[in-house]
Amino acid sequence: MEGVLVTGTASAVLDGECARCLEPISEQSEVTFQELFVYGDQDYSSDEDNGVSTLEGDLLDLEPLLRDAVVLALPFRPLCMDDCPGLCVECGARLADDPDHAHDDPIDPRWAGLTALQQEPDEQDQTQQDQ
Ligand SMILES: [Zn+2]
Ligand SMILES: [Zn+2]
Repeated sequence: MEGVLVTGTASAVLDGECARCLEPISEQSEVTFQELFVYGDQDYSSDEDNGVSTLEGDLLDLEPLLRDAVVLALPFRPLCMDDCPGLCVECGARLADDPDHAHDDPIDPRWAGLTALQQEPDEQDQTQQDQ
């Protein structure tokens, strides 16, 4: 196969957010790539969907190659740190900012009324029987 073998390294800045706590993340990523670009005058250059990269005259288009290399290097679940504790399930606070974060009263005030009913089940039954 006649062509040009391209080998390279590219660095890119990745911007995203932590999959657990949504903290913005920006990190440097370096990817390597290698691809054979065949001369455009050969038969298979006519079909652009065959996965073969071709030279366009004396030029070669690195963009698809670079994009694929960077996408493959992206982390599946980016994290701000390896052991990110995520967010508080009750109030949404970022636990990494406040490791001692805790709630004194684990009962949501909206359900406080139900707790009172739960403590007096007999009385509740009695009321229903009287009706
Ligand atoms: Zn995080
Ligand atoms: Zn909380």
